[in-house]
Amino acid sequence: MAAALIDGKGFAAGLRLTVAAEVRRLVADHGLMPGLAVVLVGDDPASHVYVRNKNSQTREAGMASFEYRLPADAPESALLERVAALNADPAVHGILVQLPLPRHMDAARVLDLIDPAKDVDGFHVVNAGRLAVGAPGLVPCTPLGSLMLIKDCLGGDLAGREAVVVGRSNIVGKPMAQLLLRESCTVTIAHSKTRDLAAVVGRAEILVAAVGIPAMIKGAWIRPGACVIDVGINRVAAAEGKTRLVGDVEFDIALAHAGHITPVPGGVGPMTIACLLVNTVRAACASRGLSTVL
Ligand code: NAD
Repeated sequence: MAAALIDGKGFAAGLRLTVAAEVRRLVADHGLMPGLAVVLVGDDPASHVYVRNKNSQTREAGMASFEYRLPADAPESALLERVAALNADPAVHGILVQLPLPRHMDAARVLDLIDPAKDVDGFHVVNAGRLAVGAPGLVPCTPLGSLMLIKDCLGGDLAGREAVVVGRSNIVGKPMAQLLLRESCTVTIAHSKTRDLAAVVGRAEILVAAVGIPAMIKGAWIRPGACVIDVGINRVAAAEGKTRLVGDVEFDIALAHAGHITPVPGGVGPMTIACLLVNTVRAACASRGLSTVL
């Protein structure tokens, strides 16, 4: 039987409506307008598209959106000064510095300067540490959105499930594994040095692929009925000189094995920005000691 497609696009649209309702409540009941600041350095075309989408979705959710652009040759000190000013600005509850940064800038130094309370990307070591010890903090958006999709598929309680995360990056693989561990899954992290990846993948009731290599997870490896979350976004050549986006999982074959699977595009991607909005509302509420439904 063919797997059910996980509609990340639809789920994200619903989540954005929930965010918008929560923003209306915060404004009406507490005079609190959540604000997200995005800083973009240079002219990377993909980054410009992401930032435009982030700004428009922030405004659609009724939040304040602040955008700052610096030229590609700006000194790192200019970016650090901008981040410091945003840290001190009470109208800004979330700060996102769009990556990648130009080569002369040290991304780690810049991300380190962001106030962890405003670190809506969840990349600061303080937030990574909080996630690791199970303390409240801001969680990276892509794993956060992926977990929401997994819980929606499998009915919420994931305790005891066999989960395999392929990829160990700080922004996807590691936080994804931490979140699944927090849900009491039995978690395996596979990576570029893993031996017999096929056997490891074959154990997974929950499989998260975050590698960045088109169709490297073979469909036939997938355990029958597994919930497959394909985080990969890879641009490949298509007919007539065009290109198209594919994931890390060999989708057509995987369809015959998995129980649920995210398409690429339209799966995890839309959840990332929706979760950025969620994190901004959470950060705004935390700044005033308020609870939130999000
Ligand atoms: P990364 O390059 O930082 O990490 C890739 C990981 O894959 C590494 O940990 C590496 O060990 C592992 N890997 C490499 N070759 C492997 C192999 N042969 N077998 C097993 N593991 C292998 O990448 P990332 O930033 O984690 O992103 C991964 C993918 O997810 C990319 O395609 C990226 O575009 C995509 N992504 C999507 C979103 C989204 O919003 N949907 C967000 C972030 C990243």
